[in-house]
Amino acid sequence: MINEKMYSLGSTRSKIRELFEYGKTLAQKIGSENVFDYTLGNPSVPCPEEVTKTIISEVQNPMIHGYTSAQGTIGARKAICDYNFKRYGFELNPDLTYLTCGAAAGLAITLRALISSPNDKVLTFAPFFPEYKVFAENAGGSLIYSKCDESTFDIDFLELEKTICSDVQAVIINSPNNPSGTVYGEETIIKLSKFLNDKQREYGHAIYLITDEPYREILFDGAVCPFIPKYYDNTVVCYSYSKALSIPGERIGYVSVSPNAENAQKLYLAIAGAGRSLGYVCAPALFQAVIEKCVDKVSDSTVYKDNRDVLVENLTKLGFTCVNPKGAFYIFMKSPMESAEEFSDIAKTFGILVVPSDSFGVKGFVRLATCVSPDLIKRSLPAFEKLAKELKMI
Ligand code: PLP
Repeated sequence: MINEKMYSLGSTRSKIRELFEYGKTLAQKIGSENVFDYTLGNPSVPCPEEVTKTIISEVQNPMIHGYTSAQGTIGARKAICDYNFKRYGFELNPDLTYLTCGAAAGLAITLRALISSPNDKVLTFAPFFPEYKVFAENAGGSLIYSKCDESTFDIDFLELEKTICSDVQAVIINSPNNPSGTVYGEETIIKLSKFLNDKQREYGHAIYLITDEPYREILFDGAVCPFIPKYYDNTVVCYSYSKALSIPGERIGYVSVSPNAENAQKLYLAIAGAGRSLGYVCAPALFQAVIEKCVDKVSDSTVYKDNRDVLVENLTKLGFTCVNPKGAFYIFMKSPMESAEEFSDIAKTFGILVVPSDSFGVKGFVRLATCVSPDLIKRSLPAFEKLAKELKMI
């Protein structure tokens, strides 16, 4: 019998994909120059030249394509840990590091390793990446979320206190955040660590903090992203090179269990077991070799900052409101209408494609991905002006 839950996941598109596909159809009708697609988080800057050169040189070895060990090559795992030590002064352990097909696979297997009963819950903060719900449910548990402070999208600790319960086995944070662009500063991380340590004592079990970090390198205005294992012992880092190196289609990232985590070795082996049970063994071999050589490279993200500046300035002038994002490549704009879905539908009639916030766990906002060409942004400004006029904002 076909699994209905899987059928439903496979046969429905996310709102983001739905709008993206709509954009392609719209472009055929009204011309691609009249469609301003702000839907997808696909990096718009090229991967660093060193990455291209390394791919070319590594691929000369016809044996590069073989299986590696399930957790990845020791060379790549060591390079990752050495790099993090140099950068953050914290020693991750190559033997607690597992190469994955991006952060998505890392999150999926980490949750699979941490959830053992249908009552088990994973807590995150809204707005959040919608796939967390899919991963938590597929692991056999459920996702609950705590609303952020909507004026900053920082953690609201009063809300968190109301939401957390003893069934929570894991908490996911994502900073810089998709979709709000918020970066949790050191003060927030210290407060969160203390909060979770107190809860661990109260509940009498570990609460693992999963830090989902595909945007760790994309920071603006001097924002600093604290290295979470330094602050909280029970941390699992889920990192991805998708955005840092502009290689999302190559599927490479890693999970690293903090050596200070409770039962670190057992958790690592459970992550390996989850990888095995889902068939997620041996991340792409060519890209393991590339990461080993290019672990310290990052794509140039200045264009994301320039795009953010142009959009925030012009949208604000038109009367739209958005928190100025300090990282990642999204703007989370307040919908001028109560229903973000309705606003997104009206925007579509001006060729502007923005994602309503409902699937991110909050109402009344839209997400604009700023990983687009500066030219698209420039051309879209008159359409935003018409939209503002239509809504009687100007
Ligand atoms: N987490 C967040 C917050 C994301 O935005 C994404 C992708 O956009 C992912 C995880 C998954 O990224 P990947 O699997 O490409 O590393």
